[in-house]
Amino acid sequence: MKMRLTAAILAGMTAFSMMTACVSADENAIDKIKSAGKIVMTTNAEFEPFEYKDGDEIVGIDLDISHALADKLGVELEVADIAFDSLIPSLNAGKADFIAAGMTATPEREKNVDFSVPYFNASQSIIVKTDSEIAGRADLNGKTVGVQQGTTGDVYCTNEDQSSDVSVKEVKRYAKGMDAVSDLIAGRVDAVVIDDYPAEKLVSKNPDKIKKLDEALTEETYAIAMPKGSDLKPVVDELIQELNDSGKMDEIIGRYIQLDDADSSAAEAVAE
Ligand code: GLN
Repeated sequence: MKMRLTAAILAGMTAFSMMTACVSADENAIDKIKSAGKIVMTTNAEFEPFEYKDGDEIVGIDLDISHALADKLGVELEVADIAFDSLIPSLNAGKADFIAAGMTATPEREKNVDFSVPYFNASQSIIVKTDSEIAGRADLNGKTVGVQQGTTGDVYCTNEDQSSDVSVKEVKRYAKGMDAVSDLIAGRVDAVVIDDYPAEKLVSKNPDKIKKLDEALTEETYAIAMPKGSDLKPVVDELIQELNDSGKMDEIIGRYIQLDDADSSAAEAVAE
């Protein structure tokens, strides 16, 4: 009996110290990263120009920012490509140090992660066939709309929380924006709702068949996500500030997209 009690207390103590070890792991993320000699980023490489595959390599705006972060810490960057809606659960399971995935900082997500300062202004936009009668958000009502699963475009169209003013007939969810667009071209959905710059890239691959509407459906900002309480956050915030101040952020973004003057000032406004 005494033995069993001791064992129970020991087990309890072990569980407690594991819990505290878990908490302090986030507070000591930088030590862990430096002793491992690498920092692990997760993303979903189906989101050109932010992250996409070029042969075997994953490239894009978020990759360049993440490489700059690894350089700042003096470590290697390791990249893991997973489903968009697995990013936050995987981060919180300790499988990554941060997420860079054109991820919009939302209050809902902020319950589970800490976001850096924002680095990019974005919005949801509508892609339709070139001959579509859909000309704006009001025309989405009663239509079948394709979205990327678990994204802010999905939340906007599903409108469970009544935060948007659309009432679509059906939301079809895809792992990749590209698959939603293929179904749009095949006539299986009436429109696709996706982030504006990825929409531009998708349209540029099929300009004779599809077009992006000018209307911006939402106002969003992209940020890097880290586990709650991570001591990496001030370092990432500082990096974003440095990239903005030195003009390197514009240089990175300019490698992948042509920002007009209005967009460029919007990107800078985020930094302030
Ligand atoms: N910005 C959108 C979101 O955070 C989409 C991101 C993505 O598909 N990579 O939900």
